[in-house]
Amino acid sequence: TTNETLARNDVAYQFHSYTNAPRLREEGPCIMARGNGIHVYDTEGKEYIEGMSGLWSVAVGFSEPRLAEAARRQMECLPFYHTFSQKSNVPSIELAEKLIGLTGGRMAQAFFTNSGSEANDTIVKMVWYYNNALGRPAKKKIIARKRGYHGVTVASASLTGLEGNHRSFDLPLPQIRHARCPHWYREGLPGETETAFADRLAAELEALILEEGPDTVAAFIGEPVMGAGGVVVPPATYWPKMQAVCRKYDVLVIADEVITGFGRTGKMFASELYGIEPDFMTLSKQLTSSYLPLAAVLMNERVASVLARHSGELGTFGHGYTASGHPVAAAVALENIRVIEERGLVANAAAAGAVLQRRLRELADHPLVGEVRGVGLIAAVELVADKAARTPFDPLGKAGAQVVRRAQDNGLILRGIQDSLAFCPPLIITEPQVETLADRFAQSLEEAARSL
Ligand code: PLP
Repeated sequence: TTNETLARNDVAYQFHSYTNAPRLREEGPCIMARGNGIHVYDTEGKEYIEGMSGLWSVAVGFSEPRLAEAARRQMECLPFYHTFSQKSNVPSIELAEKLIGLTGGRMAQAFFTNSGSEANDTIVKMVWYYNNALGRPAKKKIIARKRGYHGVTVASASLTGLEGNHRSFDLPLPQIRHARCPHWYREGLPGETETAFADRLAAELEALILEEGPDTVAAFIGEPVMGAGGVVVPPATYWPKMQAVCRKYDVLVIADEVITGFGRTGKMFASELYGIEPDFMTLSKQLTSSYLPLAAVLMNERVASVLARHSGELGTFGHGYTASGHPVAAAVALENIRVIEERGLVANAAAAGAVLQRRLRELADHPLVGEVRGVGLIAAVELVADKAARTPFDPLGKAGAQVVRRAQDNGLILRGIQDSLAFCPPLIITEPQVETLADRFAQSLEEAARSL
């Protein structure tokens, strides 16, 4: 098939995720044909640094032979077996044990799904099940955050705090509330310190819980560092303060580590970075480096014991996916985690991440740059039309899209989130490669600046 036919068929036969269909028809798709390390190659053979690890996910880089070999071995041995009723399979058991071990035993059990959305959907149901089990059926509301991203199923899209995921879908569900986004640059008051900002957000959370009624609020969910909402790094005291409010009102804490898990911030989990002691954790993406679809819900003993007791009394926990604990996906996850550990990729995220953060912060004085933020190997550069007034471009997203386009021409794939450029390169990236990435970005910013 020629590249033109491929492009034509893509537009004709595939309905794309998160895509403006008329623009796709007009501009055509960018079709990737292969990948190697931090690079991907399109069907024309053009090489790009994948500055976003695909979708924040290809930790070990593209085409790691050990993952392919692990999949092949498991495919030949037992390509599928489920975990319904009392059945199980070896890789899912080993992976559950491994994940609990990685949390230092702070979590007790794992439940597997295919996607992060399904994992968060499962958590919503588990939270409801938990409070039913404890005889408090009114305690069902879940507080998420504006600009948070937790997926796209009916329940997880409700948790997501982005307009585009609610508009036209009759969402959010009535049990969901959204608290303020912990973005000091955008939400801080004039003269307010980061610490005072965090105190205010904790006070707002408490006020919201009291207004709704503590007997009706079941859980609070957040990404330790927000990803899809624009890479928002919270103030250092934010999580401890929010967590204290949750504990005071017996509100479960859910850490969605779908992006931050497995080393992204320079720690195995970002919960360690912020002192979060979650009742639930959501893991996906870097769990398998996205070579196969897999996500996990981890729950602590407090939750697991109630769920187990209740399912004993009722006879069953009425939830599960055909592919929950899929053995091939689990085998790939185990090998992926071995690669992350053996190659010291968490430490590399901290070291290469320091270079990335330094290089991007060198652009902070640029007239178009409003804020540079990030931790480890995740970062964002937010562009503004007026630096002093922090005024966004009109229309919002115009400047971001231009830089993304220039970067793509220059062999660098980035993500524009409105006018914030997001960076999330594979954890295997070397320091010289980070320098190349930063050079290409600086050049693309300069080129775009000329036309803005
Ligand atoms: N949670 C977070 C923090 C995410 O970033 C994502 C996806 O980007 C999800 C959940 C949803 O995962 P999935 O796209 O696998 O359903």
